[in-house]
Amino acid sequence: MSLRFELLSGTAVGPRRGVLHTARGAVPTPAFMPVATRGMMRGVPHDRLRPMGVDMVLCNAFHLATRPGVETVAALGGVHGMLAWDGPVLTDSGGFQVFSLAETCRIGEDGVRVEDPVHGGWIDWTPEHAFAVQAGLGPDVAMVLDHCPARPLERAEVEPAVARTLRWARIQRELHQARGGAASGQALFGIVQGGVFADLRRRCAEELVALDFDGYAVGGVSVGEDHPAMMRAVEASCAHLPVDRVRYLMGVGAPPDLVEAVARGIDLFDCVYPTRCGRFGTALTRRGRLHLLNARFRADRRPIDPDCPCPACRSGVPRGALRAGFKARELNPPILLAMHNLHFTVQLARACREAIAAGRFEELRREVAAAYPARGAS
Ligand SMILES: [Zn+2]
Repeated sequence: MSLRFELLSGTAVGPRRGVLHTARGAVPTPAFMPVATRGMMRGVPHDRLRPMGVDMVLCNAFHLATRPGVETVAALGGVHGMLAWDGPVLTDSGGFQVFSLAETCRIGEDGVRVEDPVHGGWIDWTPEHAFAVQAGLGPDVAMVLDHCPARPLERAEVEPAVARTLRWARIQRELHQARGGAASGQALFGIVQGGVFADLRRRCAEELVALDFDGYAVGGVSVGEDHPAMMRAVEASCAHLPVDRVRYLMGVGAPPDLVEAVARGIDLFDCVYPTRCGRFGTALTRRGRLHLLNARFRADRRPIDPDCPCPACRSGVPRGALRAGFKARELNPPILLAMHNLHFTVQLARACREAIAAGRFEELRREVAAAYPARGAS
C-alpha cells in the first residue's frame, strides 16, 4: 500500500498526532493543505510552499477538468507537473463545486448534470466520471464523489443525500479495487455526509468504514451551519471512524475551527480562507485578526506581524503601506497578506502537532479561542 497513516499519539475522538506516509513524502499531522484550485496558488509563488512548511497541496478536479482539461493536465505531467510540486497532492471530486452550482445542476440517482461553466453545455458528473477524471489528473489521493446537501439542517434533504453518497461510494470503491487500490499509486478517501444529524453521520461513517477506504473525510460542514453545529457534526463523524486511518475535514481552515476540529480528532484540513482573507485585507495572527484597511493602521510602521518569520513580514513592509496599497489597488498587498496568512495557518497546524506532543494542546486551544472569540467564517 503506497499510502499509510501512522498514529503517533491519540485516539478516535481526541487530539491526535500522526504521519501520513505517501509515495511522495511524509505529511506530519495535523496538517493544513493549501488550495491550488486550478493547479495554481492564488497570490503565493509555488517555490514558497516548502519553506512555509507545506507538505501536501489540494487541487479541484472539477475545475481542472473544465479548464484546461484532463488531457492537458496529463500532458503537463499531471497535477504534480502542473504545480511544479514533488510532494503529495489530493484532488477533491468536484462534489462541493458541483452542488454549489445548485441553480445550474440537476441531481439524479446516477450523478449530477451540471452546466459546463467554461464551454457551456452540460457535463454528466457521475461517480464513474469523477473517478476517471481523478485517475487522469494523477493525484496521490482522490476523493469519492459525494452528495453535499446545500441545507445541512433539513433532514428531508440530508437523508437522501447520505443514501446517494453511500451508493456512489460503493461504485467508486469497486472501480478503485479494480485499478489495484492504493497500490495503483492513487489512494481513495470516502466522505462522511449527514448534515447536523448525529444518527445520519454515524450511519454514513459506519457504512463507509465497512467498504474499507484508504482514508476518510468529513464533508458537508461549513456550509452555513453555526460553529457548535459544525463541531457536533465533526464529533458525530469521528466517533465512528477507525483510529488508524487519516481523517480529513473538508473546506475548514479558519483558526478557531481548525484548532477545535483537531481537538475532536481531525488530522487534515484544506481551505481557501487564509488566501481569501488576505485578498480582502485581513491578516491572521496569534493575537487575532487584523483588518488592515482600518484607519488605525494608516501610519503603523510595524510589519503585518512583528513575531512572524514569513517572507512578507520579514520584508518589513509596514502595515500602513499595505493599507495604502490596498486602497490604490496595488498588486503586492494581497499577495503579501495571502503569503502571511497561509504561512500562519500552516504553522498553526504545526503548533497543534507540537502542543499535542508536549502535552499542552489545551493551552494552545485556550489561546486561540481567546484570540478568535467569534466564529470565523470559513
Ligand atoms: Zn508573516
